[in-house]
Amino acid sequence: MLLALSFASITAVVGRISVLLYAAGVIALLVIFWVFRKINFKIASNFQSETDKLEEKINLLSQEICEKKKITVLLPEKSKKIESLFEVSHELVELYNFQEILDFLLKSLCRLFPSAENIMLFTLHKSSLSLELSFKKEERIIKEKYGDIIEKWLLKHNQSLIIDDLLKDFRFDCNKIAAFRERKIRSLIASPVSVGDTLLGTVRIESNAPSTFSFDDSRLLRDMCDLSAVVLERATLFAKAEELAIRDSLTFLFIKSHFYKRVEEELKRADYKKSNLGIIMIDIDDFKSINDTYGHIVGDIILKRLSAVLIETVGSNGDIIARFGGEEFVVALVECNKERLIEVAQNIHNNTERAKVSFRRKNINFTVSLGAVLYPEDGLELNDLINRADQYLYKAKKEGKNRICFTGQ
Ligand code: GH3
Ligand code: MG
Ligand code: MG
Repeated sequence: MLLALSFASITAVVGRISVLLYAAGVIALLVIFWVFRKINFKIASNFQSETDKLEEKINLLSQEICEKKKITVLLPEKSKKIESLFEVSHELVELYNFQEILDFLLKSLCRLFPSAENIMLFTLHKSSLSLELSFKKEERIIKEKYGDIIEKWLLKHNQSLIIDDLLKDFRFDCNKIAAFRERKIRSLIASPVSVGDTLLGTVRIESNAPSTFSFDDSRLLRDMCDLSAVVLERATLFAKAEELAIRDSLTFLFIKSHFYKRVEEELKRADYKKSNLGIIMIDIDDFKSINDTYGHIVGDIILKRLSAVLIETVGSNGDIIARFGGEEFVVALVECNKERLIEVAQNIHNNTERAKVSFRRKNINFTVSLGAVLYPEDGLELNDLINRADQYLYKAKKEGKNRICFTGQ
């Protein structure tokens, strides 16, 4: 009985233990499953982030490839433009004449921007622009002879400008732009022609289609304009230096050597045209005593006053006026007959007598003696003509000064 009882209790204990073991086994399995899922999830998420990173890298690389492809396509065009700019710069630096530089700039721009409908070159004169040169693909009237709000913008900002579409540009009211209203312009690039802050002009390139010009085009135009500006400024300085070299510093009339050069040319023209040429030598009477009485400064003022009288009397229709030296002046009258020669000489004489110089509330009068000759009757060579005129001048002095002497008096 006791044995049966203990056997039953042992069976019950074993049963409980096996239930417990079973439960523990199930729990262990669940834990293992949970841990496995956790690990699996971690691996999957790591894998996902690696995939995302790779995808991002692929996207960036394909974007880079795309851009590189674009550059490869544009590269030959760019290098062609740089080559053209190089060629243009080589030719530009050879030019010293303002007009020639502008002509060359326009020609080069036409070549570099074949899609341009119109190209306009403005130059600055005393703070206002005026249209100097233009290219038109089709016969059109360009009304902006003095520029419009585009050029005003360039003058104000001294920067290049690109308008992709006039219809959409918020900076400019397209209805106020004649190019848009009358020439149906949609896009343009424009640039100042300047050296530092000194503006010499502006350039505008127009197209009828929107988005015709790229930023590279705008940069190329600016480079062309910068280069031209330097060469134009050099040409201006060169012209000024040339002008100073042929002018007398006191009266700003031509000097003797330039007078000879110009009159030799005019004599050839007179031969060709079978016309005459008049020469008048003019000398201030008693100039030494004027200097001695009033001083050299007054003497200088009188020399300038006589220069003004000569300019006013002779005019500027191709006639040449020069300071021959000291208080002696000379005038060459082109296409001149005897009547005009005497008339001009008399006018110079009379106008000089009327001309006064004020000094210390005193009017100082001065007179001149003149010798007049005519080509070809008084001489065939310029030196002979000058000598003859000098002889007549000497005669005038000898006869009492303040008079005119010429052939056949
Ligand atoms: P004549 O009536 O015979 O021509 O007598 P003149 O006194 O005018 O002529 P002369 O040749 O004796 O003197 C010319 C003077 O002109 C002498 C010179 O000092 C002066 N002279 C020459 N160049 C200048 C100049 O640039 N400025 C001034 N103030 N005087 C000058
Ligand atoms: Mg004199
Ligand atoms: Mg003299």
